Amino acid sequence: MIQTEAPLNCSTEISRSTSRSATRMDVTDLYHAAQSALPGISFEYFMGMTGLAARTIFCSIDCSCADQLLDFGCLTDGLGRLGLRSVQPSEEGPGIARQPYVLRKLRRRKGAKVNREILAVADLAAHLLEPPVPMLCTAKKSMLLTATGVWSYSAVVREIGWRPKLARTTKNALEVRLRAWIDSRATTAPFLRKLAGGRRTRYAVRLKRAAEAFDRELRDGLQAAKTHLLERKSADIATIMADLRIAAEVAGLAAQNLIDAACIGAHTSEALRMALLEGPETALTGAALQEVVYLARSGARPFRQLAARRLSGSRAGQGYSTLCQLLYDRDYAVAITAAGSILDQDPEGSPKALAAAAANLAGQNSEAAAAILLMLAENPDRHSLVRDVLEQFESLIPSNPLLSQMGHQLREPRGAIRPR
Ligand SMILES: [Zn+2]
Repeated sequence: MIQTEAPLNCSTEISRSTSRSATRMDVTDLYHAAQSALPGISFEYFMGMTGLAARTIFCSIDCSCADQLLDFGCLTDGLGRLGLRSVQPSEEGPGIARQPYVLRKLRRRKGAKVNREILAVADLAAHLLEPPVPMLCTAKKSMLLTATGVWSYSAVVREIGWRPKLARTTKNALEVRLRAWIDSRATTAPFLRKLAGGRRTRYAVRLKRAAEAFDRELRDGLQAAKTHLLERKSADIATIMADLRIAAEVAGLAAQNLIDAACIGAHTSEALRMALLEGPETALTGAALQEVVYLARSGARPFRQLAARRLSGSRAGQGYSTLCQLLYDRDYAVAITAAGSILDQDPEGSPKALAAAAANLAGQNSEAAAAILLMLAENPDRHSLVRDVLEQFESLIPSNPLLSQMGHQLREPRGAIRPR
């Protein structure tokens, strides 16, 4: 069950990197499409199984361009866990062409329901811990790191922290953002409690603990932030920042319990479970390293991503070579997580290897290539390295907006790439 799922169609990944101008995906419409295929499915179960419950997407307060990160490319696995696939409305004849989304049952479901639910639990944890990704922000007209998981909270904190006060438009935009996050997160705890049922197994106990943490994230973090934003004419920025820090901390605790539950549910060894529960900064050696390496090479998507995160704690050798292989993973989040771990592990020696990998990736996964280059470009000492790779890109993919914008910014006199 923990093993690799059926490979994604390669074209899915490619279309994802070129579809950023597509319109925003409407979760409610998508849920209605799921209901048509699976009558009786609850909204909470839909959000939990697809991984949408863990998504708090953010680029900057007054812009929602990062919402485009959510598309069918990143939902293929999640819909598959529900036994669904998306089809083009036009394929279904004129009567259905007006519906925004059409979902149909897969002919063959991917494994037993309980195993698909355990994968969904692991996927929620992986999404919560997902590293930020680079995007061309349409409002800022520059490259920004955009967040999809808990990182969003610290991104908001960073963005409001320097402001003496919140302008009315900023306040309104933040309110809209918080409302959307509250709606999404409100589904997480009921989903996990449904999976746990009335049981008192180790698996169920971890799920209930995660649900409690999500309750706190919602109440003491997101809803408190919304209240403090609205209760006074001039919002108390310091209090809102404190609320969001609580949200981030408690969501991290929820992710720990989800990892624990997924490992127990998937019957991993004790060594692997303990290794994944430790932070990526903890040294990873011996038998635990072997297990995480094996997971990174043969696990299903969420487990590969969690392994890539944990391998940051390995020192050179097998852990490092496994991370280098993961840079070419068909899943974007896995590749980016691996790149971040490599850079953490060896900030001095790895940039050259990462730049070379980005050049190799340019043709097949330009989104991951750009993400790696942006990570490198955060340090001005590496700008010439990045510029060299971008020169290769220009001949390879002249029409790629993400890469050409990046090249443009690096050529500016101030060399200002702005990952915030
Ligand atoms: Zn934006």
